[in-house]
Amino acid sequence: MISVQSLSKSFGSHMVLKDFSFEVAQGKTAVLLGKSGSGKSTMLRCLNLLEHWDRGNIEIAGLPLGRTCKPDGQWRRWNTREEAEARQRIGMVFQQFNLFPHMTVLQNVMCGPKRILGQDETTARKLALELLDQVGLVQKQSAYPSFLSGGQQQRVAIARALAMRPSVLLLDEITSALDPELVGEVLEVIRDLKQRGLTMVCVTHEIHFAQDVADHVIFMEEGQLVEEGRPDALLAQPNTERLRKFLSRFH
Ligand code: ADP
Ligand code: MG
Repeated sequence: MISVQSLSKSFGSHMVLKDFSFEVAQGKTAVLLGKSGSGKSTMLRCLNLLEHWDRGNIEIAGLPLGRTCKPDGQWRRWNTREEAEARQRIGMVFQQFNLFPHMTVLQNVMCGPKRILGQDETTARKLALELLDQVGLVQKQSAYPSFLSGGQQQRVAIARALAMRPSVLLLDEITSALDPELVGEVLEVIRDLKQRGLTMVCVTHEIHFAQDVADHVIFMEEGQLVEEGRPDALLAQPNTERLRKFLSRFH
């Protein structure tokens, strides 16, 4: 479903992603691990076309992301409209929930489908209520975000991302801003999405969660992939000293 090939990206002279390659099969969950500053968010932002990369390719569902092959065989970079369209199919949830504070929970979930996909009120409302039910928050549909806990707000943000019917969901440290007692309810929603077969790439510092939900774990350092593999093998018996050291912080 996702194929990243030899991706490189610099900010000025600082190379943030170096020849980075990985794949995620349909319905699988990949977890990206690495210290702060190792390039995890930049990787997700490339997958969501929020950043342009310098070299390498990304394919989603077999289609190259960010460029189109012209009839003459030359490649053309997408324009902003094409990028915006693709971004709708690739959902992203951030550490800060970024809900619209002046809209109710229901309006937050309905606004993308209505404004961007052009759904009518009835269709958008039906889908939004289904998704709020899925994240356990139908009873909060009329509340404003500031009246919700952080965990509830993040669950609304997930429902809002799902309302665009993405083929891939990217999650960037979505529990990092939460009080510890609220982390579980958000991770429970992610587990449920995995059961439903959504393809996800997840940046998290919750090692136990990674162990539980990941089909594939990728450990990166300074923009490079250090090792990858199945979570049980990789996290129990790292091959590199660098991963061993990283994991020792969580024991
Ligand atoms: P992580 O998510 O793993 O903490 P990031 O992808 O956010 O890492 O950042 C990787 C590196 O890229 C960091 O050194 C960061 O300072 C740098 N960086 C990220 N975004 C920008 C930007 N827009 N301009 C310049 N440097 C950036
Ligand atoms: Mg980050």
